[in-house]
Amino acid sequence: MSQITNHMPTAELQRLDAAHHMHPFTAGNALGQKGARVITRADGVFLTDSEGVEILDAMAGLWCVNIGYGRDELAEVAARQMKELPYYNAFFQTTHVPAIALSAKLAELAPGNLNHVFYGSSGSEANDTNIRLVRQYWAALGKPEKQVIISRKNAYHGSTMGGGSLGGMGGMHAQGGLPIPGIEHINQPDWWSEGGDMSPEEFGLARARELEEKIEELGVDKVAAFIAEPVQGAGGVIVAPDSYWPEVQRICDKYGILLIADEVICGFGRTGNWFGSQTLNLRPDIMTMAKGLSSGYIPIAGSMVSDEIAEVIGRDEFNHGYTYHGHPVAAAVALENIRILEEERIIEKVREKTAPYLAKRWAELADHPLVGEAKIVGMMGSIAMTPDKAARAAFAGEAGEVGLICRERCFANNLVMRHVGDRMIISPPLVITEAEIDLLMSRAGKALDETYDRVKSEGLLKAA
Ligand SMILES: *Cc1c(COP(=O)(O)O)cnc(C)c1O
Repeated sequence: MSQITNHMPTAELQRLDAAHHMHPFTAGNALGQKGARVITRADGVFLTDSEGVEILDAMAGLWCVNIGYGRDELAEVAARQMKELPYYNAFFQTTHVPAIALSAKLAELAPGNLNHVFYGSSGSEANDTNIRLVRQYWAALGKPEKQVIISRKNAYHGSTMGGGSLGGMGGMHAQGGLPIPGIEHINQPDWWSEGGDMSPEEFGLARARELEEKIEELGVDKVAAFIAEPVQGAGGVIVAPDSYWPEVQRICDKYGILLIADEVICGFGRTGNWFGSQTLNLRPDIMTMAKGLSSGYIPIAGSMVSDEIAEVIGRDEFNHGYTYHGHPVAAAVALENIRILEEERIIEKVREKTAPYLAKRWAELADHPLVGEAKIVGMMGSIAMTPDKAARAAFAGEAGEVGLICRERCFANNLVMRHVGDRMIISPPLVITEAEIDLLMSRAGKALDETYDRVKSEGLLKAA
């Protein structure tokens, strides 16, 4: 048996976990009954649990472990930085080398004139910063009434009051008094579920034009910015039709509203370029970065802003900042992560070799009797499960029932694939090899077969 790094049996760990640990996005009491799988170590694209079982992690944790698990270099950099300068801040006319070096590096990597970074420790925090940044930007230009940020239904921008409000998740808005004022949501470009009789191209244009209609409805003098993920991640890896983004960019330009690209998932190679904005040809004024910025090895995030925004914000004191802004250990780890991405040409390999191979294999899933569309951009993909492909129908039962069955069949086959409703999604580490992609696909195929059998035998294969 491979090494178990815990001193307790699994059942005891599970008991303590249920007794004291509150899990995110989880019905805690039900989980306590079932017991959580205890992950003890990881290497490359594989996790190991407390029973010594190896699991292929097709989600890269939560879309973040871009360089894969087990890179000692990051641990060594962190240890070195902790000994030299474990902490200092940048609030009162001070700075430090890791924050300087990372900021300069990010300015070099980011497209266009995005040359300035304001740090946070999570994507949620960075998006909270963005709310204050864009509102303060317009206020500093003498337009304090330009406050509203337009976002999209089924978007994910984090879990804080600001991030959850920018996001368009109904389940999140239903709890805790979200959204905060001044956030408006338009429809998402999800052709499979919402496209009706329109062609994808017609639908993409129609959904983009909702932005224009919303700006007209509110009055452009009230609108500060539009925020969107280049490819919606947590919403189910929703890839917009080709007509969508050029029209959105045209509308942002026409009305002069700021475009915030939430690159928390798409950034750092996920789509086959450094940023999703490059893959989709966007010219954002602000980019949100987190997750892949440090490959998840340590919490760090940032808002990358244009020269113009930095100059306007800089005219006055910006009354905003986090204790761990540009944390030296986190910044040093992020820099080392970027060094590895660059020197090992990981993003080029994704673009030229492994992503095209994964795309070819992923497309084969569309032949499965349970699968409607199979979508993929770079290293993020989704399949829509359906009881009737031609009608693009949803299942008659509760949304997500089949998805949950499939996720459990994946887990039973030692594959982490997540479900969003009845879509299954992947976002593997960027370093996944072709042989590992084959393993991923064979486990996914087996899980889908088992799901299909069960859905059929339980009478769930009915259209709504
Ligand atoms: C994960 C995510 C966030 C929130 O990041 P946290 O670090 O969890 O706060 C924001 N935006 C997008 C697109 C995300 O995927």
